[in-house]
Amino acid sequence: MKIKLTVILSLFALVAIGQHLDTPDNIRTKKGDLIVQPITHGTVALSWNNLTIYVDPYGGAAGFEGLADPDIILITDIHGDHLDVKTLGALNLSKAKLFVPQAVMDQLPEEIKIKATVINNGGNTDYSGIDIAAIPMYNLPEDATSRHTKGRGNGYILTMGSKKVYLSGDTEDIPEMRSLKNIDVAFICMNLPYTMDINQAASAVLEFKPGIVYPYHYRGKGGLSNVEAFKKQVNDGNSKIEVRLKNWYPNQ
Ligand code: ZN
Repeated sequence: MKIKLTVILSLFALVAIGQHLDTPDNIRTKKGDLIVQPITHGTVALSWNNLTIYVDPYGGAAGFEGLADPDIILITDIHGDHLDVKTLGALNLSKAKLFVPQAVMDQLPEEIKIKATVINNGGNTDYSGIDIAAIPMYNLPEDATSRHTKGRGNGYILTMGSKKVYLSGDTEDIPEMRSLKNIDVAFICMNLPYTMDINQAASAVLEFKPGIVYPYHYRGKGGLSNVEAFKKQVNDGNSKIEVRLKNWYPNQ
């Protein structure tokens, strides 16, 4: 009886751990599948070619339970939902290389700084066969008082095999986003007052026409943005763009 109870309890624990993450997506590339695992808010885990990438790890290490330890960590900006030193400290960073903008580097604790390389807007580097390019992310109008000033944070474009993945970071519908070309997978923020509303996001997406769009980072002051309405706007304008709605806020 005791054994049975233990088995039942461990099964329950497994289910409980698994519950907080939405199911991963597999996207075919020329070199195996790219696996997309939504974690929460602006936090994403990607894996490709035996490499695991965490983007803006935030919200505690428990959110990454069951995933491989990171080979690459990308951080977009200095705000707590992107640069989360507590979560970074709780992860196994033994094989991790971080790529961060200078403003993030300046705030990293020494033991993590030694694992990090600065990449700023316009920069680009190759790491283990992944091309990592940093592009601007900022609020409009662009001025020194905005929440996200141009030049501080990075959006990223990763090229893996044949696929280009764009992670917007916290931004509005800036010209640098609207003029992107050949993006296969795009993660687009939409939350007021921090980034942009769904109309700006849909308009930008219709202009640069990625193959697949994941709305992410959509918890704002008024709650969660209406991502179903975003999807409808995008598909009313272009039915070929695939909008994937995942559960980025499993605890709400
Ligand atoms: Zn944010």
